Amino acid sequence: MPYLVNTSAPVLVTGASGYVAGWIVKKLLERGATVHGAVRDPKDEAKVGHLRTMAENSPGGLKLFKADLLEPGSYRPAMRGCATVFHTASPFKTDVNDPQADLVDPALEGTRNVLQSVNDTETVSKVVLTSSCAAIYGDAADCADAPGGRLDESVWNTTSSLDYQPYSFSKTVAEREAWRIADAQSRWKMVAVNPSLVIGPATQNAPTSESFSIMQQMGNGTMKAGAPRIGLGVVDVRDLADAHLHAAFDPAAEGRNIISGHETDLVEMAKTLQPTFGSHYPLPTRALPKSLVWLLGPMLGGLRRKFVSRNVNVKWRADNSKATRSLGLTYRPLDVSMNEMFGQMVKVGAFDD
Ligand code: NAP
Repeated sequence: MPYLVNTSAPVLVTGASGYVAGWIVKKLLERGATVHGAVRDPKDEAKVGHLRTMAENSPGGLKLFKADLLEPGSYRPAMRGCATVFHTASPFKTDVNDPQADLVDPALEGTRNVLQSVNDTETVSKVVLTSSCAAIYGDAADCADAPGGRLDESVWNTTSSLDYQPYSFSKTVAEREAWRIADAQSRWKMVAVNPSLVIGPATQNAPTSESFSIMQQMGNGTMKAGAPRIGLGVVDVRDLADAHLHAAFDPAAEGRNIISGHETDLVEMAKTLQPTFGSHYPLPTRALPKSLVWLLGPMLGGLRRKFVSRNVNVKWRADNSKATRSLGLTYRPLDVSMNEMFGQMVKVGAFDD
């Protein structure tokens, strides 16, 4: 579906320093948009330097603003005059001490905070919420309970909690709250983008997204004896950025949208790296037996037994046809995204000790 980026008003991207946001900002700048990037510290060059460089080399313009998900009203200055808001900011990490404070509060309070400012900012007519497939399912085993054995946009994650898969829980409660706020008014329209695991190269040199931890473990020897065959979906970060732009500017976009290019698992993903990187890096070449992962997972990789039972050797299935059809999306091949991501990590020294 063709769409035109509206360059007549600025566009706000929350969490502009992030991995996913980097490509959204880049594509907006390339199309001539004026981007208001909301970040925690606009003076932190390590976090925002790549965005400034992008802007210098693009027809669009960039203005950075300081904002924090936990500070009410802090996105208001960045939102002033904007017609479109991309709300991507939300912590994506799995190793946290306090799931409520580290994940749920920023995700949920942050969503309330941003959308309250949208309510107060008359110029905004469109919000694109970066939700996740994590708001649709908790474990790969949940796919079996979905209509026809495949997740679709009608499904909500009911199996994650503060104690089990708290990141997924944070994305679920945040998206539910976003729809509650959006449905309580009629001035602005919201479209949710629900990506599976995001892979592919970053626009920054030192990305902190959890996406990179998985790749790190594949290349640094953590999985050299083999990988647990955890079923999951993946999507390239550039295809996901395109999906965000479609969601914002294509009038056909609506509701929730599963954005996922491939149904795969960790072993299959690692295998795509073998031809180019297999002789130099201790990549996993085989699947670990589920019984062994169940036995040793809690000690080795912090994999809980419930997680192992419900995800290892369990196929992940999702129906991505809604977004493919209505947004006209196409997806890069898995091996391209994997090799470009891993190659970039090699280049910046991610596996050097
Ligand atoms: P990321 O690089 O870690 O980006 C997260 C962004 O959120 C960063 O800009 C971060 O700012 C910001 N943030 C975190 N806590 C904040 C706070 N208290 N106040 C203000 N900003 C805060 O991770 P990502 O992978 O790009 O994730 C971006 C979005 O995509 C998230 O909503 C995530 O849930 C969603 N998503 C990601 C994946 C994936 O596989 N990567 C899959 C599905 C959905 P700092 O740079 O200052 O830390």
